[in-house]
Amino acid sequence: MQRSWFLALTIALATLATLFPVGIGVFMAQLEANRREADQLAVFADAALRRGEAVMTQAISAIQDMEQLRDEPCSPSNLVELRRITYSYRFLQDAGVYGRGRRLCSALLGPVQARTLPLPPPDWRTPDGYDFWFDLANPFSAPRRTILMGRNGNHVSIDPQVFVDVVDRDTRMLAVVHTDAGRIFATTQGANLARLQRAYADHAYGPGGAARHEDDAAVVLRKSRNMPFAVVVLAPRAALLTNWRALLVGGLIVGLAAGVPLGILVWRRATRRFSLEGELRGAVRRHEMAVHYQPIVALSDNRCVGVEALVRWRRNGRLVRPNLFIPMAENAGLIQQITDQVLEIVLTELGTLLRRHPSFYVSINVGAEDLKSRRFLTVLNARLRDSGIAPAQIRIEATERGFLEPDVARDTIQAFRDAGHPVYIDDFGTGYSSLSYLESFKVDALKIDKSFVDTMGQEAATSTVAPHIIAMARSLGLEVVAEGIEDSAQADYLREQGVDYGQGWLFGRPLPAAELAQFLSKNAAPAAPAPA
Ligand code: C2E
Ligand code: MG
Ligand code: MG
Repeated sequence: MQRSWFLALTIALATLATLFPVGIGVFMAQLEANRREADQLAVFADAALRRGEAVMTQAISAIQDMEQLRDEPCSPSNLVELRRITYSYRFLQDAGVYGRGRRLCSALLGPVQARTLPLPPPDWRTPDGYDFWFDLANPFSAPRRTILMGRNGNHVSIDPQVFVDVVDRDTRMLAVVHTDAGRIFATTQGANLARLQRAYADHAYGPGGAARHEDDAAVVLRKSRNMPFAVVVLAPRAALLTNWRALLVGGLIVGLAAGVPLGILVWRRATRRFSLEGELRGAVRRHEMAVHYQPIVALSDNRCVGVEALVRWRRNGRLVRPNLFIPMAENAGLIQQITDQVLEIVLTELGTLLRRHPSFYVSINVGAEDLKSRRFLTVLNARLRDSGIAPAQIRIEATERGFLEPDVARDTIQAFRDAGHPVYIDDFGTGYSSLSYLESFKVDALKIDKSFVDTMGQEAATSTVAPHIIAMARSLGLEVVAEGIEDSAQADYLREQGVDYGQGWLFGRPLPAAELAQFLSKNAAPAAPAPA
């Protein structure tokens, strides 16, 4: 995939990963706003209902108290009693006596028979004889209204605001309804009476209870169980929206808090490939490669005849194995620089050894790109000129991955050989068409891949491959190096099969140059090189 495409896809994914939790956060915020609003409405409606019941209970109790009074109605002693009653019921404004279509006296008004304070016929009379005037002018202040409730000539006055002054946001509307009379007798200030009436009419025959969401508002109706009244609470949508907006900000923050790290995670995961590649690029630029050397021995006498140079990446104080970065280096176009650096290190670290022991050699792995031109050969020639190191001491290991353009690879390989560098086909047998290459590619040796050595002598299907490869190599006059020999049974078997050379942990692990010198001194077989 092209880098730009990959980046675009990564950005899209990271954005999605960010927006998804934000979307969920916003959605949850809306749900939460609705739920909270419904809860608050219900709580509010319950409080209003309790207030209404308390007021009604006080009104009934006060009237019953007055019915017990034995004094002459409106006598001075009776007026004292009426004042006492008014004071003992805090929701009541006044208590008095009425008859013959007018008020006769009250705790607040005193004996008013002389003045004419007419009373219209009651708006409602209950079966148990209570009269209701839902909307009378207050005798003290005409614009204020008062509710009168009375029986047998005794009445109490109630300020309708007492029913609705339950503390709440002023955006909500509250109405108290006499359910038998079907009449709203108290509303919060500024409430839309017509809207409340409609809400009551819509819900009056329903079960009440939970909040109902309508187009423009959420509505709750609560009916008193033992009294003929109900409360209607209405929260206009506009009020809900402000609530929602506040929650939306919360939802956005939560969504972003979850989404941004998720987005960053996606971004980092996706771009790690590039960042690792960038790191490798920097490492190559700064020459942070190291080389370890693995002994290659003659199986006839376990004599160390040469070594394979295996590159390592010094990264954050640790050595990274080539399997993890060589493929990336090939993709990123860094392999040629790595090959050059390996050659440099080899010549620096093993130059003296190679000069002293002309039969000792180092084999260097080359990448696909190195086989597409003679560039590396030119570099190699230039470095070896006048170095005292023979071309045959630097050998080339090429894998089938490098044969993608067979004609070019064939030419390049031939050029290496012409210049005196023996060429090995590495990991032989693991590619699709190893055998076909042998026909057209002239090389000097095959390295049998570890996977065949591993299964040798076993029942596995691959276990029969190694002998064939060996026999064929023989008939073509090629040397054979077996890779990954870990135990002596494998070595014995290969020896029996007539394999010339071996490489593996049995003989030696890949070692830094200094340890290789020690290794060579300890394994000083007759012709093995002495330490450098
Ligand atoms: P390779 O060229 O086939 O190298 C042999 C690999 O097998 C090495 O792994 C070596 O450490 C490992 N090995 C050797 N003997 C044994 C054994 O007895 N048991 C086991 N389990 N492993 C054994 P390493 O060093 O990780 O190299 C892996 C591959 O990376 C190499 O395979 C080669 O294809 C590539 N490579 C290494 N250095 C370079 C380089 O400088 N340039 C290029 N282009 N590729 C390189
Ligand atoms: Mg190799
Ligand atoms: Mg190999």
